[in-house]
Amino acid sequence: MPIYEYHCHKCNVRFDSFKKLDDYLEPQEHTCGEIAQKVISKPMIAVDYGGYVSPATGEWVEGKKAHLEDLKKSGCRLLEPGERQDMERRVQENERKLDNFIDTTVDKVYAEIKG
Ligand SMILES: [Zn+2]
Repeated sequence: MPIYEYHCHKCNVRFDSFKKLDDYLEPQEHTCGEIAQKVISKPMIAVDYGGYVSPATGEWVEGKKAHLEDLKKSGCRLLEPGERQDMERRVQENERKLDNFIDTTVDKVYAEIKG
């Protein structure tokens, strides 16, 4: 028997009610006597991976399992939690070192030319 959710506007509460599918359209009374309104809620489903064309095989890949197999085929893997942030941090650090090196070199060369 499905569970339906209702809202009583008088008491401002939500409550569940088990009903036969045939009684789906029957009005639902709250304990206070007021007729409650049926609440439409989003379905409780987990969203799986959307499909994509594999860059490795050119085949259509859909679903988490197929996605993981596709990554494996091309020698790739999912990033561990925090791994992306760590990579971004290292890239920024290297860019900063490179900027410093360029600045120092330009200053040195300028000083030499100036004499
Ligand atoms: Zn009520």
